[in-house]
Amino acid sequence: MLQQQFVELAELAGGFIHEIKNHLSTLGLNLQLLSEDFGQPQSQRDRRSLERIQRLQGECGRLVDVSNDFLRFARVKDLELQPVGLGALVEEMVDFFGPTARQANLEIKVYVPADLPPVLLDQDLFKQALLNLLLNAQQAMSAGGELTIQAAREPDWLVLVLIDTGKGMTEEVQSKIFRPFFSTRPGGSGLGLPTVRKIVEAHGGAISVESEVSRGTKFTIRLPIPPASANGSAKGTSVETIANLNGKQMPLAEVMVPALDRGFLFGDAVYEVIRICRGKPFLMAEHMQRLARSLDAIRIGGVDLPRMEQRIRETIAAGKFQEATVYIQVTRGAGAKRAHPFPPQATPLELFWVQEFVDPYLEARQHGAAVTVVPDIRWDRCDIKSTNLLPNVLAAQAAKDAGCVEAIFIEKDGTLCEGSHTSLFGVLDGQLLTAPNSNAILPGITRGLVLKLAERAKIPLREHVFKQVDLPKISELFLTGTTSEVLPIVRVDGEQIGDGKPGPVTRRLQEAYQQAARETAE
Ligand code: PLP
Repeated sequence: MLQQQFVELAELAGGFIHEIKNHLSTLGLNLQLLSEDFGQPQSQRDRRSLERIQRLQGECGRLVDVSNDFLRFARVKDLELQPVGLGALVEEMVDFFGPTARQANLEIKVYVPADLPPVLLDQDLFKQALLNLLLNAQQAMSAGGELTIQAAREPDWLVLVLIDTGKGMTEEVQSKIFRPFFSTRPGGSGLGLPTVRKIVEAHGGAISVESEVSRGTKFTIRLPIPPASANGSAKGTSVETIANLNGKQMPLAEVMVPALDRGFLFGDAVYEVIRICRGKPFLMAEHMQRLARSLDAIRIGGVDLPRMEQRIRETIAAGKFQEATVYIQVTRGAGAKRAHPFPPQATPLELFWVQEFVDPYLEARQHGAAVTVVPDIRWDRCDIKSTNLLPNVLAAQAAKDAGCVEAIFIEKDGTLCEGSHTSLFGVLDGQLLTAPNSNAILPGITRGLVLKLAERAKIPLREHVFKQVDLPKISELFLTGTTSEVLPIVRVDGEQIGDGKPGPVTRRLQEAYQQAARETAE
């Protein structure tokens, strides 16, 4: 009875926070517009008004952050458990956290034995818990330091330990850190560590802390090892990737493509990437239409797309994929010899694979990311989703080398066009701008959705380019893409955009995107 009352109360609180967030988003947007009206204060009074507006914007942003933390805390239920190798998961999170760690002067050392048995985890939730602990360690070591992550096996438990060399905690603080709304950090919601504990306990595990002031802190997580019978098919990794070559299903590692295949030799091929959300393809019709358009544009005929779509759906069901991506590639096939013109009788090669999706952008989506600008050296038909991606590959590597998530292509006239694998949006004078569809950009499917969502939310909108010289006046910048979703950008080549935080328009569209993805999955 008490339990049921608690559940009802929690649902009510969740609904209430959602409602408040909707209003906060309108409030934030209006404050943003107001602050832009006062962009160049003429008088002392204007300056004071602008300061007050900016203070209100800060408070509004904080309320949104606290609400998000609250919702994350409340959401820990109905776990989707899968056998997972802890080593791979830790490695993935450390890799993902790498740029933040480097910036904060943190050295992360990982010692996870390769032969640990798999544990049953809700991957998304457990990654969230790990990320919270990594961020916690970063905050504890504000002047840099060392974080050691170790895992070991006890007879019935898998033990994961995180040790930092940060400022440590008193016994009193230690006794309170897992309590909701307790925080030693100004502006902290006090829900990070309680969420971690809730996630660990929801997995049947336990978390404990030991700490010494000025020495550091050690968190120990114990996760139950499932009985051997329960993990019969577990391989210590997550769900296996399933490929399909010309209608034949096989593991990805077994796919063989002939050396004379024109996709391999000339990049004579087109591709798509589709997202699966909670077991359902998201925006599949739009992706298949774009694939049809790309095939048509490079004159590959004879591909039965409805049949391919059916095969993809069957593969998703057979593999019980939940959060996944489908990669599709169609090449012109193989000729009798290597020659540039189309071979007279080649049969297109149809390949796709469905792979579990591990979201690399979780933190960047929350706090914003950095990009770099590179010259656009691509061809004149960027509207075709072809596998000829060398300029994009070089641009993405330049971004990685610069510690950025993405590279933005710049045209000769200074126009910022799109990313190496994302579409680009900016907010200028309160208006949302993105390049119009043309030969110069890929007609992004996420871009199309975001334009619809912006229109529905009555966000002033214009399909028009902006230039590098506009950046100082741009208040918000974000990227869109199938895997990046709506990704806030807060720095371009080291220069801050707006107030250096994801802005209200971006937040609103992130939420609208999430809702659209949830709705397909329902
Ligand atoms: N622009 C380019 C050049 C891309 O390669 C991509 C995706 O790969 C995008 C934009 C984003 O498109 P979508 O939203 O369809 O993933």
